[in-house]
Amino acid sequence: KQSSRNITNYRYFRQHMLGDIIEINKISELLNHSIENDGLRLLYQPQINSATGSADGFEALLRLMDVNISPPDFISVAEGRGMINIIGRWVFEEAARQISEWKRKGFAVKPVAVNMSVRQIDDNGFVEFMEKTLEGYGVEPEYIEIEITENLLFEDTKRAVVFLNKIKDIGVSLALDDFGSGFSSISYLTRFPVDKIKYDKSLVDQYANIDKCSVIQKLNLLAGEFNIKTLAEGVETREQFELLRDAGCHAIQGYYFSKPLEPEDVEKNFLKGAGDMIF
Ligand code: C2E
Ligand code: MG
Ligand code: MG
Ligand code: MG
Repeated sequence: KQSSRNITNYRYFRQHMLGDIIEINKISELLNHSIENDGLRLLYQPQINSATGSADGFEALLRLMDVNISPPDFISVAEGRGMINIIGRWVFEEAARQISEWKRKGFAVKPVAVNMSVRQIDDNGFVEFMEKTLEGYGVEPEYIEIEITENLLFEDTKRAVVFLNKIKDIGVSLALDDFGSGFSSISYLTRFPVDKIKYDKSLVDQYANIDKCSVIQKLNLLAGEFNIKTLAEGVETREQFELLRDAGCHAIQGYYFSKPLEPEDVEKNFLKGAGDMIF
């Protein structure tokens, strides 16, 4: 009886693995097709200053046009199949292009946060590419923030520190993404030259309530000691927003204020000037 159960489990496992590989191959194909056929685009989610109610910045979030695969899925396939460097460069250039377009149209442009995979450390010359791209589009480095996920940093801490310092050296700022989602380490705040930490939705869900919000307040105080700004991600309710604001989070990002938007909707709702206060 015992052995037959094992066999069943083994078969289940095999089928599962096979399913995963087929799935990964499919995603990989669709991703390649998107890259080659102009099928990538960026949406922008506003980051609301919790004191003023206006957008402080926007996070650029990658989408595949006409293909319904979630970003975490296609990003992890891109990382595993050697496509992340091409995608990473496309994302950076598209963000720079968009900023230059907004500047040309006369909007009061806010910084755009660009997600970067730590795998892109292997992209030799990426920082030089960033510098040239910004120059080419006439975009000052202050308009860009690079978001890097904390749980990848600890795989190769030394190289990461060198790389992140290079990014800082060209004048681009740095945010530590997904803080509190994995093996968060307070030492990241001292070892990496970060300007901002972004509290992950899981941390927000756990602590943005009356009973536990003092934890976030203390984290905010600690970050303040290091001159680091804090942003809470995945905020979906007014109650969460108010608690996080009162706990000292500088900025709030989440569906409560806005989902990720097409550039035209960013212009309409957040860049037109007078109407940009949302509370
Ligand atoms: P992330 O960088 O932590 O981005 C935040 C994610 O939370 C986004 O998911 C956003 O749409 C979602 N979100 C925002 N507010 C809320 C909310 O109130 N509730 C909920 N449930 N979700 C909210 P998205 O766009 O699916 O991206 C997922 C992840 O994929 C990102 O997490 C990031 O790690 C990765 N990613 C997205 N675009 C890029 C990119 O251009 N490059 C790289 N390397 N990774 C990217
Ligand atoms: Mg991010
Ligand atoms: Mg995040
Ligand atoms: Mg994430």
